[in-house]
Amino acid sequence: MLPEKVNIFGIEYTIRQDKDEYLGANSLLGEILYSEQEIYIKSTLSADRKIKVLVHEVSHGILFEVGAIKGAGDESIIHLLGICLHQFIKNNDFEWVKR
Ligand SMILES: [Zn+2]
Repeated sequence: MLPEKVNIFGIEYTIRQDKDEYLGANSLLGEILYSEQEIYIKSTLSADRKIKVLVHEVSHGILFEVGAIKGAGDESIIHLLGICLHQFIKNNDFEWVKR
């Protein structure tokens, strides 16, 4: 199950799964809207795919929020970053970072 919100460097993005018509019309599984601080995820995806798509969209957001605007719009970079982040997050417990 996806969270309702994610915090990307102090900016709160709302996760929305009620934009299937918009996403379908644009052949997208997800999208991040920086100015609206929203991330759309297609509601009909499997639970695993929703997580992967969310991490992909968050990857766009990470680069955008640190000012790497060119990288934030580069799908080849974001694709790789998304896969790496997803695996890194999935395979580790992060309590040690928060201590
Ligand atoms: Zn993308």
